[in-house]
Amino acid sequence: MGMIEQNRAAGSLRSLLAISGVCACLLFFLSAGGLAAAAFDNLSALSYADAPAVPSPSAPELLPGPLRAPRALNAYFISVGQGDAEYLELPNGQNVLIDGGPNPTAPLVKFLTDHNITHIGHVVLTHPHLDHYSGLGYVFSHLQVDNFYDTREDNTGAAGAKALREKIAALGVNVVYPAAGDLLDWDPGEVAVKVLNSCSTPGASNSGAVLNDCSIVLKVTYQDTTILYSGDMQADQEANLIAAYGAELKADVLKVAHHGSNTATSTAFLDMVKPKYAYIEVGAGNTFGFPAAVTLNNLQAAGVTVFRTDMGGTQEYVINGR
Ligand SMILES: [Zn+2]
Repeated sequence: MGMIEQNRAAGSLRSLLAISGVCACLLFFLSAGGLAAAAFDNLSALSYADAPAVPSPSAPELLPGPLRAPRALNAYFISVGQGDAEYLELPNGQNVLIDGGPNPTAPLVKFLTDHNITHIGHVVLTHPHLDHYSGLGYVFSHLQVDNFYDTREDNTGAAGAKALREKIAALGVNVVYPAAGDLLDWDPGEVAVKVLNSCSTPGASNSGAVLNDCSIVLKVTYQDTTILYSGDMQADQEANLIAAYGAELKADVLKVAHHGSNTATSTAFLDMVKPKYAYIEVGAGNTFGFPAAVTLNNLQAAGVTVFRTDMGGTQEYVINGR
């Protein structure tokens, strides 16, 4: 599992903080009887624990201070082959799945099983293309889901997308059709989630470009760090967002649109987003030639560090709490 360089760049201070964090966690477990076990369900949460303000053991009067569980936001870019699936663990314990990847669904199922995920608060389908919705059939058949975020755009003739939506309706899951500009209260007061793009009014198309540009685009901000989930939107839609939002598009982390296709990630968009890190969800040896050389060149020219699921497997980005 990949980890970004920011978190790997462990200087001695960070190591000390990590050790302090582990100690704090042990103390927390002893005192809280493991009640917060769910908050420690992966090593990264433990390793990058939010160390309490205890400079050294020589200041024991500070030790009984407010020891609390680390409140990290963990963002996963799941290696699902040629398609998209991103998972978020929010500081308040809520979780989010953005897209479910393609068929075969085995890589998504393995991720969900490995992480003991049986309940998802929020599932988002960015747009009704096979490489984004196929895995959601498994999710809605085998996991409990509270809320489903969808566009009102039909993929004309796509029986699978229609069947998925009918299944979700029959299950009685709360369905939300967010509009551009909406704020989603997934972790109120802690994580700002803004919808930057969606097709929230009824429409239908079999045009790949039209459906891609309908993608639900989300800006997720925690502790002054922003991740931009761009679905499969294309350069014309990027231009629309630049016109609508301008510098509000600035993000530290970019989920690169459309698997690194040459139809997206324009230099104008990169100039506005100014990401430090970019994640490309792409299948090894895919027949589309993703990611495109021009996209990789644009990212490199912009000084962006790129991570790819086809080369590194599932990637994780952690925003530590304070
Ligand atoms: Zn796609």
